[in-house]
This record gives sequence, structure tokens and C-alpha cells, in this order.
Amino acid sequence: SDHALAYPASPDEVDWDSHYPAFAGTGKTPEFADVGCGFGGLLIALAPLFPDTLMLGMEIRVQVSQYVQDRIVALRALNTTPESSTPGPYQNISIVRANSMKFTPNYFRKHSLSALFFLFPDPHFKSRKHKARIISPTLLAEYAYVLRPGGIVYTITDVRDLHDWMRTHLEAFPLFEPVSEVDLRAEGKGPIVDAVYTSTEEGKKVERNQGEKWLACFRRIEVQRV
Ligand code: SAM
Repeated sequence: SDHALAYPASPDEVDWDSHYPAFAGTGKTPEFADVGCGFGGLLIALAPLFPDTLMLGMEIRVQVSQYVQDRIVALRALNTTPESSTPGPYQNISIVRANSMKFTPNYFRKHSLSALFFLFPDPHFKSRKHKARIISPTLLAEYAYVLRPGGIVYTITDVRDLHDWMRTHLEAFPLFEPVSEVDLRAEGKGPIVDAVYTSTEEGKKVERNQGEKWLACFRRIEVQRV
């Protein structure tokens, strides 16, 4: 459980240089967060597409988060030649073992994220388990806090009931507005949408089983002061 984990008291306490050694000293912090990243497929797909954007996965399972960490270390080593002093790709992705439902603001500063991903989250089918869902009014307030105005929440699932749940909660929350897949593609986010559909282990499993995928994306709006 959580008490076995050491959590940073605030994002300023996270040693980002050790997460992203190639960016040490730049002051950069993660801009993309993959919540419940599982085996890391999204991070690995996006890393070479946005080489200057730092990305962080959050995963609660110990073995799974360790696996992703090992995978990133291996990818970095494979893609860096000893002769070259310039680091290769995958320097911009990292992972923490964390319960995102409790500790998201401990990792991400206010308005620091431009993208937040919830890809094929655990459905928690039974009504009494709905409070365990990763999208809820309380958590949406946290997600709105860490996302910058204009930032995008990407959700996808093969469970229609969970899709409706995430969509209606996000629609009801005043700081988010729906954004269509067409609009996202028109503003150059097509490669991100493609990765959301196909890059993760769960997304591939749904494909193998010829399941349907439901996408719902939202923009963090700018608050107009009057
Ligand atoms: N996003 C990945 C994909 O598409 O392949 C994984 C999907 S899997 C169904 C859901 C993942 O979320 C699991 O790996 C699970 O351990 C993780 N998870 C569930 N609750 C979490 C929480 N509170 N904090 C962090 N990760 C969580």
C-alpha cells in the first residue's frame, strides 16, 4: 500500500535531473503525463516524436513500473553510441511508481502539463467500485490544476460504460471543453491521437480481440476574469 512508498512532498522535491540526465540543468519538467501507463507503450511511441518534451509515466504496480524503468534504460543504451557525445532518443521519458489518485499534485506543478493521458484505465465495473475510477469530480480538479490552459486530456477505453462515465464527468466540469479528434488532427496532434489509439499494450490487446475503442478528448480552458 501507499505507506510503503516514499512520495515527494512537492514537485520541487523531485530530482528531475536523475530522471532525465540528458536534460540536467535545463530546468525542464515533464509536460506529458501518462496516468496508469502500464508497460509504457505510449511513452516509447511518443518519445522520438517530441524529443524536447519531457514525459512521465505513473504506474502503481511495482513490477510493471520496474519493467518500464528497465525498458527505458535499455532503449537509452541501445540508442546511444559510445563515440557520440550527443545522447540518442528516449532521454525524455521516465516513470514513477505512484498512486496517481493520491499523489498527482506531488509530481506536477500548477499548469505545467500540456497533455494528460488516461489510456484504457481499469474499468471498475461494479457501482460500489466507481469511486476507484481514475476520473471523478475531485480528481478532475487536480487534473485541471496541473494542466495548463490549452492543455489536452486524452481518454480512450474499450468499455462503453467507462467511456460514458469519463465523458460525462469531463463535460460537466467547468474547466474542460470537449475537443474532437478532427480538431486535434487539424492542429497537428494527429501523431498523438494515433499513439493513443494504437501504441499501448492494452490498445493492442483490444485490437487483437477486434474490440471497439472509444476516444474522448478535452481541452483545459482559460478562465476569463470579469
Ligand atoms: N495505459 C496502459 C495501456 O493502455 O496499456 C495500461 C492500462 S491497464 C488496464 C491500467 C493500468 O493502470 C494498470 O497498469 C494499473 O496498474 C494502473 N493503475 C491503476 N490505478 C492506478 C493508480 N491509482 N495510479 C497509478 N496507476 C494505476
